Amino acid sequence: MSKTVFVQRADRYDPEVCGPAVEALFAALPCTAEIGPETKILLKPNLLTRAVPEQAVTTHPEILRAVIQACKRRGAKPENITVADSAGGVYTPAVMQAIYRTSGLAEVCAAEGVLAYSACETVEVDTAGQAAQQFELLRPVAEADFIIDLPKLKTHVMTGLTAACKNLFGTIPGLKKAEWHMRFPDRERFGEMLIDLLELLRPKMAILDGVMGMEGNGPSGGQPRALGLLLASEDLPGLDLAAAYLIGLDPMRAPYLAAAHRRGLCEERFDPACLGGDKEAFRLPEPAWKLPDSYADGGEGSTDFADTRFPAAIQPAIRALERSMAPRPVIQKDKCIGCGKCAEICPQHTIRIVDKKARIRYGDCIRCFCCHEMCPAKAIELRKKKIFSL
Ligand code: SF4
Ligand code: SF4
Repeated sequence: MSKTVFVQRADRYDPEVCGPAVEALFAALPCTAEIGPETKILLKPNLLTRAVPEQAVTTHPEILRAVIQACKRRGAKPENITVADSAGGVYTPAVMQAIYRTSGLAEVCAAEGVLAYSACETVEVDTAGQAAQQFELLRPVAEADFIIDLPKLKTHVMTGLTAACKNLFGTIPGLKKAEWHMRFPDRERFGEMLIDLLELLRPKMAILDGVMGMEGNGPSGGQPRALGLLLASEDLPGLDLAAAYLIGLDPMRAPYLAAAHRRGLCEERFDPACLGGDKEAFRLPEPAWKLPDSYADGGEGSTDFADTRFPAAIQPAIRALERSMAPRPVIQKDKCIGCGKCAEICPQHTIRIVDKKARIRYGDCIRCFCCHEMCPAKAIELRKKKIFSL
């Protein structure tokens, strides 16, 4: 597996720009030589929720188009290429078809003759992970022999960033994802589970859509931000180290990258020596990328200053203090439209809709921020509780 992270400029979503840039990335990655007429290719975009391309929540359709065409140039038959993902809420054909339409991916799939998968069949796959022993996966993911991961570069209120590794969480159907949050409310274990998934799926390559990313309170509530880059690699944790560098995030604060590092799958820091392609284009954005509020002022909102800096005997007290100080989701009643999506996704079932407004019972909240992620009205803020008001 090549460890190189290849860089290409792409300053706009134009086929004349994205097509050559994606082709250059394909040409650089050795694994693309494996693509042939019989290769069952699975393209995994980020389809978190129903959003138009301009919102920078979902992988842009022009990136998908360029990737499909690059596969076809290598002999792939359209009938052997499938696009599949599962959004954050319920996983039904109607929901997925609506998301494909709104994101613009349905139009591209129709034009290119490939399947935008919405049959919503799933299969259980055993694994010998460190945190997970079995995953329920979308059927075409389990049946593919060449997975191409197509993430969007975004900040993430729970994991710091979402890029190549975190994007794989969408291969788990709908509300099953909430069950994983409930099983692993601790960030460290949640990160281990994501790396178990990576090691099970072993995508051949990833192409990160950083033409227009998202900063602030991503993955859905932040602001679109132009970066003008595509990054690609066969080494997904390595690609995410580069992505973390660009957004100014210490990668070891992203729980899944810390887990990957513990397993020897990536270094602790991004190393510019691993770059290939248009290296000159790989520059820190000015001004610096805005991190989520939950990662502001040195914390990630929950467990950063535990672990090794304090004696084991006082770790429980440290954890309790962290928990009380951690940001928590707060409903802004004036913005809440009472749609119930937050209650639907909440793994702890701790949100109720009362008088057409969401209400959170904080005692059971595990601060997974799934509600924030799925709120279509941006009505959920992350706020730190003041210690002296406890
Ligand atoms: S907080 Fe958001 S997701 Fe929850 S009911 Fe209100 S508008 Fe819907
Ligand atoms: S209220 Fe929100 S942050 Fe708390 S457990 Fe439910 S979804 Fe997660």
